[in-house]
Amino acid sequence: MTNPLLQAWQTPFGMPPFESIQASHFEEAFESALKQHQAEIDAISNNPEPPSFDNTLLALEASGDLLNQTSNVFFNLSASHSSPEIQSIERNLAPKLAAHSAALYLNAPLFERIDALNQAKHQLALDAESIRLIERYHLDFVRAGAKLQAQDRAIFAQNSEKLASLFTQFSQNVLADESSFCLTLTQDEELQGLPTFVRQAAQKLAKDRGLTEPHAHAFTLSRSSITPFMTFSERRDLRKTMWNAWCQRGEHAGAHNNEPIMKEILKLRLAQARLLGYKDFSEYALADTMAGSAQQARDLLLRVWQPARLKALQEREDLKKLSGLEDLEAWDWHYWTERVRKEKYDLNEAEIKPYLQLHKLMQAMFHVAHRLFGVNFKEVRNIAKYHDTVTGWEVTDANGQHVGLFLSDNFARSTKRSGAWMSTYRDPMHLSASVRPIVVNNNNFSQGPEGQPTLLSLDDARTLFHEFGHGLHGLLSQVRFPRLSGTSVLRDFVEFPSQVYENWLMQPAILKEFAVHAETGHPMPDALIQKILEAQTFNQGFSTVEYVSSALVDLALHETTDLDDLNFKAFEAQTLKAIDMPPAIGMRHRLPHFSHLFSSNSYASAYYVYMWAEVLAAAGLDAFLEAGDLFAPEPARKLYEHVYSAGNKQDPMQAYIAFRGRAPTVMPLLTKRGLA
Ligand SMILES: [Zn+2]
Repeated sequence: MTNPLLQAWQTPFGMPPFESIQASHFEEAFESALKQHQAEIDAISNNPEPPSFDNTLLALEASGDLLNQTSNVFFNLSASHSSPEIQSIERNLAPKLAAHSAALYLNAPLFERIDALNQAKHQLALDAESIRLIERYHLDFVRAGAKLQAQDRAIFAQNSEKLASLFTQFSQNVLADESSFCLTLTQDEELQGLPTFVRQAAQKLAKDRGLTEPHAHAFTLSRSSITPFMTFSERRDLRKTMWNAWCQRGEHAGAHNNEPIMKEILKLRLAQARLLGYKDFSEYALADTMAGSAQQARDLLLRVWQPARLKALQEREDLKKLSGLEDLEAWDWHYWTERVRKEKYDLNEAEIKPYLQLHKLMQAMFHVAHRLFGVNFKEVRNIAKYHDTVTGWEVTDANGQHVGLFLSDNFARSTKRSGAWMSTYRDPMHLSASVRPIVVNNNNFSQGPEGQPTLLSLDDARTLFHEFGHGLHGLLSQVRFPRLSGTSVLRDFVEFPSQVYENWLMQPAILKEFAVHAETGHPMPDALIQKILEAQTFNQGFSTVEYVSSALVDLALHETTDLDDLNFKAFEAQTLKAIDMPPAIGMRHRLPHFSHLFSSNSYASAYYVYMWAEVLAAAGLDAFLEAGDLFAPEPARKLYEHVYSAGNKQDPMQAYIAFRGRAPTVMPLLTKRGLA
């Protein structure tokens, strides 16, 4: 038997041959890939020639092809279409990959070469992008412990390995709690208030889960299932059941409890940060960001927090007045908000939803990319797929040249983790030849009933555009080096291209053209568009408070150094009390299932980045509004040149200023959210 992961793929667009890949192939593939990469690294670090840009940095960039390819296939499947076998392989694999990565960064002769090049970088007649690559590698190595002495290096490497295993356990525990919960309703009185589209999606979900009771409707902890339930269900008791299940993910006593794992992760992070000379993990994490320090990040959050809190308190009064509830609870908020929305704006989700057909909104997101950047999208059906609901699109530029392949994986299923994300099967680069990317967007929408279009909520539609903004950031990359290409940018910059893209969805011209009623085929009426736009600032107190409170808890948690006695529930409560959290609003993510924080190091002490990027994004759209044209060529050209095609080839603040002509301010964000 041959292992398809170790063969050259003769498939259209070089897609992985999913139909012949079995979970059992991964172990052998990773083993070969790790060996191969290690041999490449050894050849670089043992090279008797003095270090040069080509024999060190370029060689490093060109190494690890098989490992990248195998990892991309594996981790995409593990996130989008997992299985018990994949999960078990992942648990075994995590420490091995971490050990491999630690060995790379703690390779002393290799670091000596990079260090020498870093010192000589301005004497080597290199272009700016190459110099930036040297600096980036140098920083990566230093941050991964390359300057540590012998014993500390070993401890650092061990800690990294332990962390990797803990991240996997954390994620798998959340997934276990999410997929084991299902609220099954069969009686009409249990379904009170739920509009037809919610019932239909719930019936489909029941069928998918193999529920055989007659009239079964299933509700799960996928956002696209729980959110409409919380919005429309008239049954306060059932809303409370759902809410509690949502909040308690990762917190249940027993095998899937995440608290010991979180504590262990925090201790290891603190130890790592201290080894590198930082006072806490937050200081370490924020040192390599646009914000630069936890204080800067917190300052921004607090500038938004005060007005958001006041707005949320007003919103709460409105809800209390309408509901007559003195004891308004968190599980009442969505439901009564929907009522107030209807009363204040004569607007409800059920009225909007038939206009938000997934396939039309995908056309809209392609159209915006075409108008801004001249790219075209054509569906391709001859590609290998890991799930039959995935669609593929070839992206070409204005001259018909291939730009990349875009995969769209939109629907929730029990084998997919929750949330929405962009990822790649192949990354863009231009070393010896041009390599164009294969980019995938994952969403968790509820698929429409058989033969009918999938309808989205406004939130879902925004998510669709958001992830496509990330997708374009990967697809349009014209950067030479993989380490600097596509979305490999600083954490608080990476959400800028995605958030700025969301803005185009809410433009009247776009809604008019693409928000077409699923049954009548009529475009969305002007009056409804007007109402939607007016309602945009509605409930922004709540949304902002829900998010900012989570971000502040994250920062505070990673500044905590006394971890032995840490009680997570008490810590949350205490931090929220200190900022005067308005009652009846929950954190957007409670700690025991806060995957941003505990499924990797990427967003730890960095959940603030969404708000940071939103400041950039709100001020970014203004460039087009000031020009009086949503697709004004000049800002579009600059946005392409300095942002979407530019990866991390220059300092992000300089890139932003090159696009926008000035540094960002917080005011456009406050205005956009109605908090000014
Ligand atoms: Zn994002």
